[in-house]
Amino acid sequence: MYCGVMRLDFKCLKCGSDKYIVKTAIIPEKSPGLKLEISNYYLKICLNCGHTEMYSAKIIDRDEELKPQY
Ligand SMILES: [Zn+2]
Repeated sequence: MYCGVMRLDFKCLKCGSDKYIVKTAIIPEKSPGLKLEISNYYLKICLNCGHTEMYSAKIIDRDEELKPQY
């Protein structure tokens, strides 16, 4: 299921715009055991001012009820 991210209502914290794009970012992270772990993130980028929010895809995919708090 890939629809989780689209359900996150977005209002830019900086300018209040609700126009944004979502991109997926794959970021390698070092875990404590020196093993490289690939983590998936969603980037929500405000089309008005460029403010970017980052969400861990792991957590969003695990918890379907996750919603931003206003
Ligand atoms: Zn903005």
